[in-house]
Amino acid sequence: MTADRSAARYGLIGHPISHSRSPFIHRHFASQLGQEMTYEAIDVAPEHFRERVESLREDGFLGLNVTVPLKEHAFAFASSLSARALRAEAVNTLSFGRDGLVSGDNTDGIGLLRDLTRNLEWKVAGQRILMLGAGGAARGVMQPLLEAGPAQLTVANRTCSRGEELVAAFAPARCPVRAVGLDELGGEAHDLLINATSAALGGGAPRLPAVIFAPGARAYDMMYAPTQSAFLKQAAALGAGAVSDGRGMLVEQAAESFAIWRGVRPATASVIAALSAALTAEDV
Ligand code: NDP
Repeated sequence: MTADRSAARYGLIGHPISHSRSPFIHRHFASQLGQEMTYEAIDVAPEHFRERVESLREDGFLGLNVTVPLKEHAFAFASSLSARALRAEAVNTLSFGRDGLVSGDNTDGIGLLRDLTRNLEWKVAGQRILMLGAGGAARGVMQPLLEAGPAQLTVANRTCSRGEELVAAFAPARCPVRAVGLDELGGEAHDLLINATSAALGGGAPRLPAVIFAPGARAYDMMYAPTQSAFLKQAAALGAGAVSDGRGMLVEQAAESFAIWRGVRPATASVIAALSAALTAEDV
């Protein structure tokens, strides 16, 4: 048992994977808690998902994080699913049991909420939230956002029908929830904007109308980068009172996965600071 634990193997699968900061984060967690484990990034093409994951399990891996574009594959692969994975219809954390069972969980939503409410100390309850995007990341955070008790949640997506489908999947909700097209935004102020689009991959950001932020409103970009994103620059220029990128979410979702696997929760503040320093130095 101890011998197995001392060689515990974990990793992240995705495609592509070379940009990932997850090995950096998990190495910090392991050293902080004195856990003997390895964590590596492994490129897995979608068409080879099943055979590669089976072979990693046979090689002794105890768990895997899963990123784009494999979260839906992991959802279909898992033999048991947590409630939050079922709601998200996506899995970012696989755990391999000794009995052959494969458990699937999704820690993205709790990661975002912990970063917003604990690290940044931003209010979610009672706030008018505008989320841009209706893809996998948006779906993963819908339930925890709604559970946090916002005054209203608006989903604005480039393809409006996709936003409508997302909103319908979470109806009925405790607060008004609606979907609009990105091009329909304007004239209405919000307290918290969350960018869950992948527009930054093309170097851009959804164009925001002049009136979008209530006084003191906040803007959060799930994307993270060494320099401020186009979305956050735009938000600051339009009057956002505070802005943050998604590095804290990344560390928090990783901490939740670590706790699932190792039964012990790492402290995250020092790791977010280390990641920020490394991003600044661009040496992660
Ligand atoms: P998906 O591919 O599932 O969804 C992409 C979304 O972005 C869709 O809503 C799409 O709209 C929209 N979009 C893409 N390009 C543009 C554009 N040029 N203008 C406007 N909207 C656009 O991606 P994910 O949901 O998985 O990821 C979204 C972002 O969240 C990524 O930047 C990712 O890195 C980040 N993320 C961060 C995490 C963290 O821990 N910090 C965790 C998970 C994700 P349409 O439907 O019209 O195509």
